[in-house]
Amino acid sequence: MANNYDVIIIGAGPGGLTATLYAARANLKVLILDRGIYGGQMNNTDIIDNYPGFSEIKGPELGEKMYQSAMKFKPDFKYGEVKTVTLNGDEKIIKTDTDEFTTKALIIGTGADHKKLNIPGEKEYEGRGVSYCAVCDAAFFKDEDVVVIGGGDSAIEEGIYLSQLAKSVTVIHRRDQLRAQPVLQKRAFANKKMHFIWNAQVEKIIGNDNKVEGVEYLDKVSGKQKIVPAAGVFIYVGVKPQTEVFENLGILDEEGWIPTDERMNTKVPGIFAIGDVRAKDLRQIANAVGDGSIGGQEAYNYLQGLNDDILDNETLG
Ligand code: NAP
Repeated sequence: MANNYDVIIIGAGPGGLTATLYAARANLKVLILDRGIYGGQMNNTDIIDNYPGFSEIKGPELGEKMYQSAMKFKPDFKYGEVKTVTLNGDEKIIKTDTDEFTTKALIIGTGADHKKLNIPGEKEYEGRGVSYCAVCDAAFFKDEDVVVIGGGDSAIEEGIYLSQLAKSVTVIHRRDQLRAQPVLQKRAFANKKMHFIWNAQVEKIIGNDNKVEGVEYLDKVSGKQKIVPAAGVFIYVGVKPQTEVFENLGILDEEGWIPTDERMNTKVPGIFAIGDVRAKDLRQIANAVGDGSIGGQEAYNYLQGLNDDILDNETLG
């Protein structure tokens, strides 16, 4: 039964790595699965300055440290894209593109992915000027004009990052106020390379068939169509949960997020959800780590409960 585990964790972001640490440290047989490199969204973040213990740390470096902490307790780490999760009594059967695993306790930490705008030019120019990752692609836009679409933490944080290399960064936002945390707003407004277009609805990304040349938007105040020339367009208009493969389990809300109680229990006993994939208001590395610690511990408690039930039944029998 090499493929049977006490606990399986899907997703090796900060939540999944912390759940792994807690479950493996409790001496359980633990598997953590990810379809890519561990670290999750931390890999696409330049500097993190709101994780306790580090006044500033590079995202991939924090990911590496979390991975090393979790691996100290000898869990298995495997690459694989989860294709299905099915139930057979208490048992959860997880099929990836290459393997099949079983477990009694499953922890879902698959996180969230960037939303798309779904406007003309977005798909056509993806990888040719349209990007969702400043840390990955900023170097292609050295001394060029770039546009950032959105007004949340990601848009502003990544805009600030882009300003280190780009000639100018124009943030286009649909309202006249940013959603981003005040500390980020203050930095962005003080940044001489950053400019803001307010009350604007982006309608089209334009180019010469080969690469992006600008962004067309509706100025909602004047009602006029306008164009901002740009070589790069970075889209940060929010996130959506990565939960398609869990639809059959009946644990998602109407938007696809996973509601849990404070012990990270989903509607299905023995299935826990942690981190950004949960239905919640604040999505941060710090609270993903908090969720992960609870999820790892609660998986242990759940397994203890199952063992107690078996002992009780044997005693009664
Ligand atoms: P977000 O907070 O949901 O912000 C999305 C932004 O895009 C909002 O300004 C929104 O405008 C705008 N928007 C949404 N749909 C749009 C559309 N169709 N057209 C144009 N604009 C649109 O998403 P996020 O910035 O990716 O952040 C996701 C989560 O991660 C948040 O919880 C955030 O706090 C967290 N995060 C934290 C940090 C950090 O702590 N350093 C860094 C990054 C992300 P409105 O404001 O008008 O709704």
